[in-house]
Amino acid sequence: MARYKDEQCRICRREGQKLFLKGDRCYSDKCSVTRRNYAPGQHGQKRTKLSEYGNQLREKQKTKSFYGVGEKQFRGYFELASKKKGITGTVLLQILESRLDNVVYRLGFGSSRPQARQLVTHGNIEVNGRKVDIASYLVKAGDVVAIREIRKDNPVVKENMEGNGGRPVPEWLEVDREKMSGKVVRLANREDIDLPVEEHLIVELYSK
Ligand code: SF4
Repeated sequence: MARYKDEQCRICRREGQKLFLKGDRCYSDKCSVTRRNYAPGQHGQKRTKLSEYGNQLREKQKTKSFYGVGEKQFRGYFELASKKKGITGTVLLQILESRLDNVVYRLGFGSSRPQARQLVTHGNIEVNGRKVDIASYLVKAGDVVAIREIRKDNPVVKENMEGNGGRPVPEWLEVDREKMSGKVVRLANREDIDLPVEEHLIVELYSK
């Protein structure tokens, strides 16, 4: 059972980076990457040099895990990004950042992306005054994301809003803690996104 409970931490350890999949624990010294910064498993402490393809695959897996997105959906985001103006890798990350579950996490309503996703799918969130329970919903500049009036007593949200794990709200979002709402001031730039990934490797992988 412990193996399954630690599954998210194993993903981080495999990537050798904190991917913040577990809420407050990720910001504490209990974080498994802080305590055991080597890959899980019997041969985890051996360093292996990855091939070019291996590196590309690693970057893709890391990004998918960070945002909690499956292969089919991730591929769909790539197709969408490649049709838009701009650097495909950057646009890809911008689309992923615009997901409603990510925005709910960034605003501090949820302590982790998985928890934020649950808040969305359980009907706690509204966008521009209308309930939205689709985690993959993409927000636009000017949208207002809020906890629905009838869910403002949700103890999970209250606790998160008070604690927030010391996480700063990124500049592209504006939060009103009292109203439990936030505004999308603009879409995220690459500098706003704290994911240590070489997104051009993902583009190279999909462009083969
Ligand atoms: Fe586990 Fe969070 Fe640390 Fe990742 S960042 S290893 S999910 S505690």
